[in-house]
Amino acid sequence: MPELESIIRRLAALGHRTTPSRAAVIAAVLAQGGHFSVDDILRTARNVGRATVFRTMRLLTDLDILCRVLLEDGSLHYRVSRRGDHHHHLVCVSCGNVRDLEDCAVSDLVRDLAAATDYDIEGHWLEFYGRCASCRSPMAAGP
Ligand SMILES: [Zn+2]
Ligand SMILES: [Zn+2]
Ligand SMILES: [Zn+2]
Repeated sequence: MPELESIIRRLAALGHRTTPSRAAVIAAVLAQGGHFSVDDILRTARNVGRATVFRTMRLLTDLDILCRVLLEDGSLHYRVSRRGDHHHHLVCVSCGNVRDLEDCAVSDLVRDLAAATDYDIEGHWLEFYGRCASCRSPMAAGP
C-alpha cells in the first residue's frame, strides 16, 4: 500500500510539486477504505478547492497510483491501485468488493482490432460483475 511520503517522492521525481492542498487530497485518498468517489474526497478534504481535487485525482490516475472502477450502477469510483499498471477489476454486485485482475485479458483483441481497423488504440475499459464466494455462501444468504 503506498504511503503519503512515497507518493510525494514519486510525484517530485516526475516533476510534480506537492502543494499543501495536493498533499491533503492524497492524504484523503489514502484514508479511504476500499473504493470511493470524488465526492468522498471532497467531503474528506473540505478545505481544498474542487478543481484541485479533480486535478489531483486525475494526476494520480494517470500515474496509476489510483485506478478507476466503474460500478455496475454506472457510478465511477476510485481506489488505491495495488498493481500500479493497467489492469481490470472483478466487482461483487452484492458486497461491493473489488478485486484487481492480474493480466489484461484482451491484449490480443486490441492488437487484432488495431490491425483490422488501422486505429492506433489508446485505451479500453473492461470490468467484470458478479457475486463473490462469500456472498454466495449459505451463511450470507440470510433468513
Ligand atoms: Zn485496480
Ligand atoms: Zn460479495
Ligand atoms: Zn486491458
